[in-house]
Amino acid sequence: MSKLMRPSFDAELIERHGGEGPRYTSYPTAVQFSDRFRAGDLYSAIAESNRLPIPPDLSLYVHVPFCSSPCFYCGCNRVITRSKTAGDEFLATLKKEIDLLGPRFDSDRLVRQLHLGGGTPTFLSVDQIEHLLNLLKAHFVFADDAEIGLEVDPRTVAPIGIKRLHEIGFNRISIGVQDLDPDVQKAVNRIHDTATVGATIGAARAVGFDSISVDLIYGLPLQTTAGFAATVETMVQLQPDRVSLFNYAHLPHLFKGQQRIKTEQLPTPATKLAIFRNALNRLLDSGYEFIGMDHFALPGDSMVKARTDGSLVRNFQGYSTHGGLDLVSFGPSAISQIGDSFAQNQRLLKDWTAAINEGHAATARGLTRTTDDRLRAEVIERIMCTGQLVYRDMERFFQLRFRSYFAEELARLEPLADDGLIEWTGEGFRVTPAGMMFLRAIAKAFDAYIKPQGQQQGRFSRIV
Ligand code: SF4
Repeated sequence: MSKLMRPSFDAELIERHGGEGPRYTSYPTAVQFSDRFRAGDLYSAIAESNRLPIPPDLSLYVHVPFCSSPCFYCGCNRVITRSKTAGDEFLATLKKEIDLLGPRFDSDRLVRQLHLGGGTPTFLSVDQIEHLLNLLKAHFVFADDAEIGLEVDPRTVAPIGIKRLHEIGFNRISIGVQDLDPDVQKAVNRIHDTATVGATIGAARAVGFDSISVDLIYGLPLQTTAGFAATVETMVQLQPDRVSLFNYAHLPHLFKGQQRIKTEQLPTPATKLAIFRNALNRLLDSGYEFIGMDHFALPGDSMVKARTDGSLVRNFQGYSTHGGLDLVSFGPSAISQIGDSFAQNQRLLKDWTAAINEGHAATARGLTRTTDDRLRAEVIERIMCTGQLVYRDMERFFQLRFRSYFAEELARLEPLADDGLIEWTGEGFRVTPAGMMFLRAIAKAFDAYIKPQGQQQGRFSRIV
C-alpha cells in the first residue's frame, strides 16, 4: 500500500511545464557563485559556525576525480587516466587539504555522514579508500551511526571488494548502472554485463549494506522502450532500496565528452517520454515510492520515512535524510556549505593541487547567502521535499507577510494552478499528483536569479 503520493503522467503538461530548470541541490545555485569568494571567506564561515551556541554536526564529501575510461554522456568533473600513481598522488594532496581544514572545526562536531563521489571513487583500491577514511578520522570524530557511503562503478569492484568496503565501515552504496542494453552501453562507452551488476548488488546485500541504491539514465542513444523496460525489469527483480531515474541532458556545448554521442541516435522526444512513463509506472507498480524529481525508494528505506515525516532535505548529492549539518568537501570542484556560505574548490586537478601545495584552501568561488536567499532557499526546499507550503511557517521564521513579499511569485504560480499542478489550500498551496513531476518548475517560480525566458536557454537540464 502506497504511503506517498503517486505522481500522474500527462504528456501535454510535460510539453507545457517540462522545460529547463535547476535541480536545486542548493539555492542560490552554483551558477551564482562569485570568484571574489576565496579561502579567507571559507575560514571565516568555519570560525563563525564554531561560535554558534550549538554548532551543527558535519557531513563530509570527497570528490575522487579519476575514471579509467570516459562515458560519453558524462557531465561530471573527472580526469580520464590509467595512471597507476594518480591515486597515491591525489591522496597525498588530499591529506594536506584535510590537515588544512580539519583542525579549523571544533572537535566535538560529529561527522554524521560521509559520501565519496566522483569521478569514480572505486578508481582507488580498497586499501587506498581505507587510507582516505583514516586521513579523515585523524581530524574528525565519526558518530557511531554515521552514514558512510560511496558511488561504485560495477566494472571496478569485485564482490570481494564490496565485502571489504563494508568491513572498513561503508554502510551505503550507490551503483551506477544507467542501462543494461549492450547496444546502448556501446553507444555511450560504458560496458558491463547484467551478471556483473547482479553480483555487485547481491554482494552488497549479502554483507549487510543498510542501503543499496542504483542510478539509471533515460534518454541515452539507441535506447528503446522495450530495451529500457528490460533494464527496469531487472532492477525490479534485484530490488535495490533506492532507484534514481535520471533524465539525460544532452548539452554538448557545456560537456565536451557528449560531442561523441551521435545526435541522430538519441531517442525522439516522444520515445523518450514513453521510456520514462513506462519506467515510472513499472517502479511504482512494483512497490517503489516516489520521493520527488527522479528518486524512488522501497517503503522500508529511510528516505521514504524522511519524506513522510518532513525531515527530507536537498543537498549537493540530491535528496538526503540528514538536515541541519554543515557540509565540508574535499577534492577538485567539491562544494562546501558552512552556515550560509558556499565555497567551491578549483575545478581542475592541477589547480586544486597547486592551491593546496601553496598552503591554503583551494576555494575558487562561492557566495554567502543574503536573508532573501535564505528565505527563498527554505521555500524551495519545502516545495522540493514536502510538496507543500504553509505561508505562516515562513512568516514566523522570517518576520514578513508572505502574500505581499511574494506577490509576483504567487502570480507566476497561477498558470500552474490552472493546469492542476498545485492547489491553493487557503493557508498556502500543495502540489497535486499531476504536479509531482514538476517540483522544479514550481520551485523555479521563487528563484530570484532566473532570467526571463530564453536568456538561460541551454544552461539547465529539462525538468522532464
Ligand atoms: S559517468 Fe561516472 S564513470 Fe563515467 S566518466 Fe563520468 S564520472 Fe566517470
